[in-house]
Amino acid sequence: MVVVERKELSFLERIYFPAILKGLKITMSKMFAPRFTRQYPEEPLPTNEVTRGQPRLAVNPDDTIRCVSCGLCEAACPAYAITIDGHETERFIEREPERFDIDMLRCILCGFCEEACPKDAIYMSNELELADFSRAALVYDIEKLKRPVSALQDRIDYVKKINDRWQTSSST
Ligand code: SF4
Ligand code: SF4
Repeated sequence: MVVVERKELSFLERIYFPAILKGLKITMSKMFAPRFTRQYPEEPLPTNEVTRGQPRLAVNPDDTIRCVSCGLCEAACPAYAITIDGHETERFIEREPERFDIDMLRCILCGFCEEACPKDAIYMSNELELADFSRAALVYDIEKLKRPVSALQDRIDYVKKINDRWQTSSST
């Protein structure tokens, strides 16, 4: 039979004083350490051109949208989030969407729509926040999706830079 010899505890050890001191030391050291907690939403997440937020439709300075209602983004969308109905227009682009909806509850922010678009008409914005009081309100129509080109410019420049890099590397 093995006999375990127990250390005789002092009075202070019996009232957990060393353990309390150790705990207080850790607490005090953490009180003055740098904080990593973000005070969201007062302190929003930082974004830049690489941020893949919610997709938006680019609006030209003359208030027209670039979309020709080709449906490529709708076909590329893995989440079936995009619904487009096109119609003919007198504008030189000949077709434009009559209805262009994105169900933001379905959207997984993958960016496939941006990649599929041949007309530089849809871009991933830096808008990340999504909240409303009903599911229907989170199906965004054309008016909710429109953003001036200037608001998407950083992303547009970034996508162009990436595409140029692919073209350069595929031609060498
Ligand atoms: S980002 Fe992806 S999931 Fe969202 S609408 Fe575009 S293709 Fe669909
Ligand atoms: S791929 Fe571009 S042009 Fe075609 S429907 Fe989508 S947004 Fe419009």
